[in-house]
Amino acid sequence: MSEKRLRDAIDTLKESGVRITPQRHAVLEYLLNAMTHPTADDIYKALEGKFPNMSVATVYNNLRVLKEIGLVRELTYGDSSSRFDCNTSDHYHIICNDCGKIVDFHYPTLEEVESLAEQVAGFDISHHRLELYGICEDCKSVEAQQH
Ligand SMILES: [Zn+2]
Ligand SMILES: [Zn+2]
Repeated sequence: MSEKRLRDAIDTLKESGVRITPQRHAVLEYLLNAMTHPTADDIYKALEGKFPNMSVATVYNNLRVLKEIGLVRELTYGDSSSRFDCNTSDHYHIICNDCGKIVDFHYPTLEEVESLAEQVAGFDISHHRLELYGICEDCKSVEAQQH
């Protein structure tokens, strides 16, 4: 991963006056490396070896702080656990039906959909989410081996 992204993120933390604890640093670094949009639980499991005293609540707390200063985006899915994304630029997601992995998909923002929705429904649209579902390459090759 790019060291620069981590340095930039640390700078943003410092500028926001947020204390950089070793756990917070590790959560941020893990998120910057993870391409799969982990849940808080995934992050906890990945880091518990390094921080045996850390709880899932600590991970959530750190994610909340990172979200508040705009370093992390939370993707909510009704009752199932939120996924966290440290790519805060506009992009869409492709989700694997089998393993649940979420991959970034870059496509020009569909601004015309937002303006049409404003005209049709009379809403002030703040944002939109577009998700595509399918079977990822890893799962496809596992399936191919089984047949
Ligand atoms: Zn998959
Ligand atoms: Zn993403």
